[in-house]
Amino acid sequence: MKSAYEETMFILKKYNILANKSLGQNFLIDDEVIESIVETANIKKEDTIIEIGPGLGTLTNKLLEKAKKVIAIELDKRMVNILNDRFSLYNNFEIINEDVLKVDLRNMIKEQNAENVKIVANLPYYITTPIIMKLLEDRLNIQSITVMIQKEVAKRLTATPGDKLSGAITYAINYYCEPQEVLIVPNSSFIPKPEVESEVINLKLRKAHPVELTNEKLFFKLIKLAFMQRRKTLINGLSNSGRVDKKQAKELLEKVGLDEKVRGESLSMQDFANLANAIENATIHSKIINPWERTLNDSCE
Ligand code: SAM
Repeated sequence: MKSAYEETMFILKKYNILANKSLGQNFLIDDEVIESIVETANIKKEDTIIEIGPGLGTLTNKLLEKAKKVIAIELDKRMVNILNDRFSLYNNFEIINEDVLKVDLRNMIKEQNAENVKIVANLPYYITTPIIMKLLEDRLNIQSITVMIQKEVAKRLTATPGDKLSGAITYAINYYCEPQEVLIVPNSSFIPKPEVESEVINLKLRKAHPVELTNEKLFFKLIKLAFMQRRKTLINGLSNSGRVDKKQAKELLEKVGLDEKVRGESLSMQDFANLANAIENATIHSKIINPWERTLNDSCE
């Protein structure tokens, strides 16, 4: 049996192709890392795996051994031809030649009657965040997401909300999933070598959200607003946005028991939830704060 390195070199030579940098093509050549991804995904015989960006098929090969079905979504036609050559005899392999961001995954899962769906991928780094947000915001019926991504992004996604490393996306991740760091991967594990280190993370989808919200959209808008002005106190951030004056901002913070000097970046999920619920409440009960939601929605996309 060939190692991942030998397999990659063999295929690149056989098809006489070079990696396309603009598509984030860094092929995994480290057998131990591949093993770790497959193990972390905890694939059972009844599972359907959606692999994003299968590339030359090194990871796909291992997924096919374990899963009931592997649906691979790959943008590069050259890769699709290679994968069809490699796996045409497998009856549990399907390839979709599309930009993953344009695929209606919800519909695809429904049409396939797929159950126990798990996402597994060595993601193209240039669109890591949009892909992960799409997987979560589309509210797919999936169990987990096991992905290799750039280490810095992994640290942000798996940070505790309110920590130094957290960003607006940290709250979204924690709202939908239980994130876990798995393995840091050096750039020598890829051909060609990326400039950055990588990390495997596992996101287990939650059955219930960790905070109760009366207006989910407002909650996320508020977090985005706070992080857009992360160096300012929350009062200044809110009042500078022109959506509410300082007095109103102060009253809102007081209402939810937050110090007036607090910065948005240090708030916990529950703090943001309390604040969003208080705003929603004020929106319903007071004409003064009525424009809140409209302006928040308008400017934070
Ligand atoms: N899975 C392979 C591996 O581990 O060696 C390749 C991983 S490589 C980091 C990322 C893969 O994603 C490439 O094959 C690339 O062509 C593919 N890709 C890039 N953009 C994509 C997109 N928008 N939709 C689907 N696949 C994409």
